[in-house]
Amino acid sequence: MSISLKKIVAVLNAKWLGLKAENEIENISIDSRSLQNSPSTLFFAIVGVNNDAHNYIEDLMSIGVQNFVVQYVPAGLEDKANFLVVDNSIKALQDFAVFYRNKFQFPVIGLTGSNGKTIVKEWLNFLLSPDFNVIRSPKSYNSQVGVPLSIVAINEKHNLGIFEAGISTVSEMQNLEKVIQPIIGVLTNIGSSHDEGFENIEYKIKEKLLLFNHAEVLIYQKDAAVDRFINPRNKTFSWSFNDETATVLVFKKEIVNQHTVIHYTHDGKVARFEIPFLDKASIENAISCLMVLLYLNYESAVIQARMLLLFPVEMRLKVKNGINNCTLVDDSYSSDFQSLKIALDFLESQKQFQSKTVILSDIFQSGLVNEELYDRVAKLIISNNINRVIGIGDTISAFKEKFNNCITYNNTAEFIADFEHIDFSNETILVKGARSFQFEEIVALLEEKTHETVLEINLNAISYNLNFFKSKLKPEVKIMVMVKAFGYGNGGLEIANLLEHHNVDYLGVAFADEGISLKNGGIKTPIMVLNPENTSFGAIIQHQLEPEIYCLKGLHAFLKIAKQKKLQAFPIHIKIDTGMHRLGFEANTLAELISTLKDNDTVKVKSILSHLATSDDPLQRDFTLKQINLFEELSSKIIRELGINPIRHILNTSGISNFPDSQYNMVRLGIGLYGVSNDLKEQKYLETVGTLKSVISQVRVIDAGESVGYGRKFVAKRITKVATIPIGYADGISRGLGNGVGYINIKDQKAKILGNVCMDMIMVDVTDIECTEGESVIVFGEKPSVSSIAKKLNTIPYEILTSISQRVKRVFYR
Ligand SMILES: *Cc1c(COP(=O)(O)O)cnc(C)c1O
Repeated sequence: MSISLKKIVAVLNAKWLGLKAENEIENISIDSRSLQNSPSTLFFAIVGVNNDAHNYIEDLMSIGVQNFVVQYVPAGLEDKANFLVVDNSIKALQDFAVFYRNKFQFPVIGLTGSNGKTIVKEWLNFLLSPDFNVIRSPKSYNSQVGVPLSIVAINEKHNLGIFEAGISTVSEMQNLEKVIQPIIGVLTNIGSSHDEGFENIEYKIKEKLLLFNHAEVLIYQKDAAVDRFINPRNKTFSWSFNDETATVLVFKKEIVNQHTVIHYTHDGKVARFEIPFLDKASIENAISCLMVLLYLNYESAVIQARMLLLFPVEMRLKVKNGINNCTLVDDSYSSDFQSLKIALDFLESQKQFQSKTVILSDIFQSGLVNEELYDRVAKLIISNNINRVIGIGDTISAFKEKFNNCITYNNTAEFIADFEHIDFSNETILVKGARSFQFEEIVALLEEKTHETVLEINLNAISYNLNFFKSKLKPEVKIMVMVKAFGYGNGGLEIANLLEHHNVDYLGVAFADEGISLKNGGIKTPIMVLNPENTSFGAIIQHQLEPEIYCLKGLHAFLKIAKQKKLQAFPIHIKIDTGMHRLGFEANTLAELISTLKDNDTVKVKSILSHLATSDDPLQRDFTLKQINLFEELSSKIIRELGINPIRHILNTSGISNFPDSQYNMVRLGIGLYGVSNDLKEQKYLETVGTLKSVISQVRVIDAGESVGYGRKFVAKRITKVATIPIGYADGISRGLGNGVGYINIKDQKAKILGNVCMDMIMVDVTDIECTEGESVIVFGEKPSVSSIAKKLNTIPYEILTSISQRVKRVFYR
């Protein structure tokens, strides 16, 4: 891309203020943290519910970014950069994408639907790329900003586009239609997900179909509910399992050798193809792909040959613990330029280590000639401060000279043969390669080996939940996130890193050593220690942690040490007891607290807080209001008499939900971040963060009358198939879940726990579940949920989450 700023001013109908320098724009960005921002970047400052990118403009200017699309010019920066002022930056980004899209005339396939969009897109890309230079949306970039960003990656060499559009509420699709302008429309499965934004399913269908308003054809599964809303201008190309009026009738599916063979009729001819999948969703997604190929007049023999090679789509970047204290970012299934950009931005957000290595295969499907492609790749990698590049493949090897500190191998086998001689330690490693390079073998070598039970943490869900709670706050209210107890069992440093990335104002831990390990891990966000022991005050000061002071004794002890160290205005937090009766100054100690702090410049009261005992219980509302009133009274007294202006905070997660008028200057978010709410209605809006997974170690069939496990507590009444799972009470699975109380999830079916839970294992009933050894199982996650398990055990979700032992490996992904 190379477009003059002047032209863009006209396209956006923007007011041009500031420098008015005639710059050329070469790329577009909305991410202030991306290292790919440069003097030729046009940065769109987007105002989100909780985050206003205008706040980062000054930082961006300091690294050389000069061109900004803004809704207002931040004060003090008026003459220092190019400002294109618009009413709405997202709208402007879309307008720009429409302008850019109109430069290209090739056919574009537009996909929408509730499920399957990304898989169908990836599969179509695979099926069509032998014949086209395909540009597609990276990952699941399908939102109001994701789609425009996908579009601006088109270059002159592309001759087919595949873009997906996702919407969460009405009126969004029209915008995306203008940006994508699909010629061939594909509606994938229209399930019931993300219904909140729509009054009902009809509205949802109607809205989704707007993507195809100007399409030449609509491909979809014939369905009366959809037919009603199809624009009569649209030509349709439909398929069905049973409706003979559909263009393509799939009349038979059969399983042969672990493959599904799909038989269909089209144009009076019978044909078939085979896919290496058995599940319903994959079959439907493959048929959506078939329809596109048929519409493009592909021969049945070609369809058969290519369909056989379909593969599982990995939609997420996985973060794993690596050997020698490395962190791995596993993106070993794609190697196009766009997804490389995304992976490098993600790598930058993983701040554990200074040192970064990228293992990269040849790059395919760029549409560019190699010389230019590798120029761009090298430039991108250099701008991301990558310390070492390991290139694998003939082509990347040929362009080795373009990179700094680069070693190359002709193929994966050569790299593996040399593996022992390469040093990997204390660094973050991005493993990124095309499927054909089988980089999963490299990941297997680099991954730390532990047992097969893992707690998978969905980092996107954490971001999502954070934003959900942020959206309930008044704009000026700060947020402290509680990461005590190893992030409620989910992982301390990794989650703190993510929260820092999201600019939360404070982190809260229970004990000093938790805070110290975060600081040692490079966390810069201020950390409050809830429960500092007097013996830890020295360490607290040394590591710049901020203690909560909750009694006179503690205050005097802290002041003594602080004075010895000649500290000035060291930040402390004053906790007052308003009815929880756990920690905190009581009303009758305030006078001495105030007189001690009066004219004391050793410490500075950063905040005053209290904690609610029953914010989750509507029956105890009066008690909570009494606590809040007392907090108001006591904190006001301290503020008045000391003449200070501290942050005040009292709300925890349930408090945020139930007492929105008492946000003061900050709230303390805990359990909600981890996807658990005490309120069933609210629970629906949160995303599941942790999924505890294990595998089947062994499967056996026992006769009626045989028993299972210690104490022979389960005796089979019928012939019973039993699976053994390597997770037990030492991993945090309560013995209370034994003897049929709890179940685990295998292929979306319930497998009851048989007999007693052992230290390292459980046995489950899989009589009616088709499953094999080595197969993955879910102990908790979406289903069964942590809340449902807590209920069975007569406890609270907090205890379930924090009981998962440290020997269970945490794997982070997005
Ligand atoms: C744990 C804790 C929180 C967070 O509580 P949640 O119910 O998990 O939101 C807030 N404040 C204090 C003092 C805490 O100890």
